Amino acid sequence: MNKSKVYIIGAGPGSPDMLTLRAARCLARADIILYDRLVDRRILGLARPDAELIFVGKSPVQHSMRQEDINTLLIEHAMGGKCVARLKGGDPLVFGRGGEEAAALRKAKIPFEIVPGITTACALGAYAGIPLTHRGLAVSAVLATGHEAPDKDEEQVDWAALARAADTLAIYMGVRHLEHIAECLISAGLASDTPAAIVQNCASPLQRTLTGTLGEIARIARENRVEPPALTVIGPTVTLRETLNWFERLPLFGKRVLITRDTRQAASLSEQFAELGALPIEIPVLRIVPADDTAPLDRAIADLDRYDWVVFTSVNGVEAFMGRLRENGLDARALGRTRLCAIGPATAERLAKYFLRTNCVPARYVSAEIADAMQKIEPLRGKNILLPRADIAPLDLADRLRALGAEVANIAAYRTLAERFDAQDMLAQLREGAIDVVTLMSSSAARFFAEGLGAEHLKKIARSVAFAAIGPITAQTAREVGLPVDIEATEHTGAGLVRAVVKHYRK
Ligand code: SAH
Repeated sequence: MNKSKVYIIGAGPGSPDMLTLRAARCLARADIILYDRLVDRRILGLARPDAELIFVGKSPVQHSMRQEDINTLLIEHAMGGKCVARLKGGDPLVFGRGGEEAAALRKAKIPFEIVPGITTACALGAYAGIPLTHRGLAVSAVLATGHEAPDKDEEQVDWAALARAADTLAIYMGVRHLEHIAECLISAGLASDTPAAIVQNCASPLQRTLTGTLGEIARIARENRVEPPALTVIGPTVTLRETLNWFERLPLFGKRVLITRDTRQAASLSEQFAELGALPIEIPVLRIVPADDTAPLDRAIADLDRYDWVVFTSVNGVEAFMGRLRENGLDARALGRTRLCAIGPATAERLAKYFLRTNCVPARYVSAEIADAMQKIEPLRGKNILLPRADIAPLDLADRLRALGAEVANIAAYRTLAERFDAQDMLAQLREGAIDVVTLMSSSAARFFAEGLGAEHLKKIARSVAFAAIGPITAQTAREVGLPVDIEATEHTGAGLVRAVVKHYRK
């Protein structure tokens, strides 16, 4: 029999960034991944595209799979010769039952590896500014579970003993029993004014931290409707939060930002928002596909020698053009004598990936400025200019260039199609204020977003939702279709848009 290995992996808490390199390597190897509820789904993006992903999570209200069944599943898949990854939140051995799974595998003689993860109590130091230990304040710490299983066989935590056991007490799973736990600790002699905190969704942009004293923390948690996953810390290091906490002070901390771009372009924008503490939510409203008819572009490519200039108006234009170049058995050398114009730094950067340097990079997508910038390099009279662009791009750039005496071949290189999205769900989120910012990176995005939701519903969007447009043309389209734009980037790039959003919230 061809037995394979099982990796029992800790994913860390909250953000996918908490994963170790070892964990990422093992995940990329797995044929099958069994994952828990507390694992951020974005981590699964590290899996091979053909890997099978199985949710085996337990939630506080519903046990979707019993531990014995998970063990059996691990054994069966490994027996079948599959490389199995068992992915858990935090560390797999800290209240994670990873030890039980490993024991079951050992019994079945299946090789396994355990990959540690950052446990939540540790992440709390970094992300909430509440370390487990701190010189002069806390020299010992205890991790305890506050979960009292309904079945009486489960061992009980001796809270009275823990009240004196350590300087810092980190309690996992204790949200529901906090009242009782606090009472036990206080009656065992722990001062009721001992600093305490409860941290929900630690290490994610949705992190929420509430502080108080041991005597009042249960009430505070109840009044603020704290929900799992949340960790309670009791001890003097809670007071360090004021100094150590950097995460909750990020300029976009906790903002939920809708990314409406094409899936392939969403990642770079999402990353920039996440870096500033925001939670990017990727729901593409459009999709970029090659032009229906590639013959016109192919003909232009066969004739590239004739062209003095190629003007790229977007990253998509670059990709579509280079794609056809490749399909025609050519490469960057075909552009040997042609000057290149890229509108905006992002487009220029994309050309640079193909080792192509641009001769002209007007920063703004304003036809007059583009034409002027090119004209400064050489008079455009009599020049042949190729404009590979979207089928729905504005035509006035070509007009402007022609007015200067150039010959312009205006060729549709790609199409922008509306992507379907769940309008009901999106509307519900927009109404409840579950989204703070909607980013619009193009006129098409604005149009498809509004059309997808339905014009009649646009008025019901919460006032707290801000629409952010990449530039004046997108903003104008957005307003025309009924989206109230509050934020407009002055530099028309992803980074420019992020800066504009930061500025908006700084006010
Ligand atoms: N193995 C995990 C713990 C699993 S038990 C670890 O090492 O962190 C589940 C409990 O962990 C939750 O009830 C909560 O107390 C805590 N927890 C897990 N992820 C958390 C998060 N992102 N924020 C706060 N608490 C979390």
